[in-house]
Amino acid sequence: MKSLDKPGSAPTFDSVAEFFAQALAIEIEAWERYGELADQMETHNNHVIADIFRKMAHIEGMHRDEIKRRAGDALVGGRPASFSWLAPEGPEAIDLGDVHYKMTPRQALMLARHNEERATRYFEAIAEAATDPEIKAFAQIMAEDERHHVVLVDQWLDKFDPDDPDWAEDLDPPVISE
Ligand code: ZN
Repeated sequence: MKSLDKPGSAPTFDSVAEFFAQALAIEIEAWERYGELADQMETHNNHVIADIFRKMAHIEGMHRDEIKRRAGDALVGGRPASFSWLAPEGPEAIDLGDVHYKMTPRQALMLARHNEERATRYFEAIAEAATDPEIKAFAQIMAEDERHHVVLVDQWLDKFDPDDPDWAEDLDPPVISE
């Protein structure tokens, strides 16, 4: 498995099993992270955003199950893969270590968006580079789904003006002692 984030470096796989293992790792990471984000938004008393992340967790959980189903025996003996979410850089930057205490709903959505885009680019690169028709076709479907997730997150970001009191960034801020 080659680098995920270096532009122009398409990931390549030695086998279909390796591809499925990586795709599965991406979806498991997304499913886990969305669950965590939902929990964090609950602690912010932001149930609207928490519900969004629960829904995203559910969607990614279905992806995970779909990959398992498609991979079937191909996964058996395949090398286990890993994939970690990254924090966006720039003005929306957050430290993943601070997530539990300080993350605002907007930052949480930007984190989600960043990683949905990453997943999209990742699957697009696989689809482009794949010579195996099975991998190519499935990677195209996954890329399409992930693109749709970016749109979903964008719709939620658009729904709230950051200055809107309903945005509730500081509705019930956690006590931060430093
Ligand atoms: Zn996704």
